Amino acid sequence: MQFVPDAPPPRAEAVVDLAAVRHNVGVLRAAAPDSALMAVVKADGYGHGAVAVGSAALAAGATWLGVCTLEEALALRAGGIDAPVLSWLHVPTDDFTEAVAAGIDLSVGSVAHLDAVLAGARAAGRTARLHLKIDTGLSRGGAQPAQWADLVDAAAKAVAEGTAEVVAVFSHLSHGDTPGHPTLDLQAERLTTAWQAARDRGLHPIRHLANSGATLMRRPELALDLVRPGIAVYGLDPYDRPVAQSPLRPAMRLQARVALVKRVPAGEGVAYGHEWVAPVETTLALLPVGYADGVPRRLNRDGRMRVLLGGELRPAVGRISMDQVVVDCGDAPVAEGDLAVLFGSGADGEPTAQDWADELGTIHYEVVTGVRGPRVTRVVREEPW
Ligand SMILES: *Cc1c(COP(=O)(O)O)cnc(C)c1O
Repeated sequence: MQFVPDAPPPRAEAVVDLAAVRHNVGVLRAAAPDSALMAVVKADGYGHGAVAVGSAALAAGATWLGVCTLEEALALRAGGIDAPVLSWLHVPTDDFTEAVAAGIDLSVGSVAHLDAVLAGARAAGRTARLHLKIDTGLSRGGAQPAQWADLVDAAAKAVAEGTAEVVAVFSHLSHGDTPGHPTLDLQAERLTTAWQAARDRGLHPIRHLANSGATLMRRPELALDLVRPGIAVYGLDPYDRPVAQSPLRPAMRLQARVALVKRVPAGEGVAYGHEWVAPVETTLALLPVGYADGVPRRLNRDGRMRVLLGGELRPAVGRISMDQVVVDCGDAPVAEGDLAVLFGSGADGEPTAQDWADELGTIHYEVVTGVRGPRVTRVVREEPW
């Protein structure tokens, strides 16, 4: 849901700072100055809004966008984006007609997938743009080296017939967040071998391999012709460096308005199961967000969750429920309608998505993609706050 300027302020908002996105794209371009940049905006821009982030990334010098599904690719076209878009995770029963007609580049990792894409190209009456995917060691998508010759051969035949164009040969890293890991060189070598085989068959594809972490390693032999950063576009550090030590700026801030303030006496239990009982008389503030909105229940299992409210970090108390979080404000003068920051860039002392990830035993990717509408309104800002 997007913010409507004259509507009352949202109860909960994911504020997305497009100036931060543009800054982060600049950092990534500087790290791979000789490569084109594809900003990855799958999963609705990692929860930030694919069209808004995609447009900002293109304005900052990205020349491609990357997504996972055909629906995500077509949503970018519907949002007015006409830059090259690559979509890479399909099932062979997908109908590729609309995607080919919309000029979406398509990943192909088997002859069966290729046949499905070519059927779409014939139905659309247009040449399919292929990125042949080689599995260089992640063991997920892509053809295994033993199947590569057959795939390249079938693709070359489709090119000769005029049904397809082979734009790229690409792969995905298993340790893109680990500088110096030996699999990086191994995967790059395997990609080059596969690319050379395509060239030997008369094709002229580009090569791409690097995600955010690999892009920021500043290694041209990983950056190749095109880099595909996702998480760093959103300002989250692929090496988990603290915000102060990272060149990136986090783009999302999750905040909610205090729905209710109440004074409770010592001994009063709070939320389901009374896991927290007020030790002294205190003021409680109720925030209208919970695990259905992307504030995981286990975030407060040890009572360590903090929110920034009234200029101070204050503890969430008791269990997080589906819709609500209770904050202990002591004797501070909080008011209904005050804004509480759950996570953000950390610039005002609020927790970061990285802090949440550490607490949850996960990665910041899962934190930001977990923030969900429709009860959280996405508010896109062109300028930093
Ligand atoms: C998600 C994804 C990326 C981006 O990875 P980050 O770690 O977010 O930079 C790049 N390429 C592929 C194939 C992906 O699935």
